[in-house]
Amino acid sequence: MAYSINALDNLSDCFRALPGIGEKTAQRLAFFVLDMPDEKAEKFAKAITDAKKAIHFCPVCQNFTDREICSVCGDVKRDKSIICVVETPSDVMAIERTSEFRGLYHVLHGAMSPMDNIGPADIKIKELLHRLADDTVKEIIIATNPTVEGDVTAAYIAKLIKPLGVNVSRLAFGLPVGGDLEYADKLTLSKAIENRSKL
Ligand code: ZN
Repeated sequence: MAYSINALDNLSDCFRALPGIGEKTAQRLAFFVLDMPDEKAEKFAKAITDAKKAIHFCPVCQNFTDREICSVCGDVKRDKSIICVVETPSDVMAIERTSEFRGLYHVLHGAMSPMDNIGPADIKIKELLHRLADDTVKEIIIATNPTVEGDVTAAYIAKLIKPLGVNVSRLAFGLPVGGDLEYADKLTLSKAIENRSKL
């Protein structure tokens, strides 16, 4: 019978479920945790459960927050007439680091991918449309990744929104095709926002 301990396999499987972690790394991380002092391991486990308990989607922009409404949506100094639509919370952080954008965000939590059966109902598009119900929003900047999925999503959203009389633009300039927005450097991203093209 192969060497197996259930609790160890369980822990290893948990690491294996994380993005970018293969079987060998998962096993190494599991052994690393077992080698930790009890107190440290408990702190680690508690950080996961605490974060899951305290953090939820902002009801407005769908970004993660531990407040009722996130700090961006709740900031009276932000320009509420413009919404930048991104795929992930990491993209919000990347754009915030540029200090270039003073509007609000909308996090889709993914992108449409016909190949993987991910359609418009699987990401937060409906929630975006709700935000356009009154006349506050004048412009939508679609900042989905420059990938096939990001482009499909941008085209779909533009088609829905344009008839509502809201300006729609897309980050196009300077971002490497197929690259992830969150890895773009500050200057490239600032330029991409500044040189956004109308859809
Ligand atoms: Zn928010």
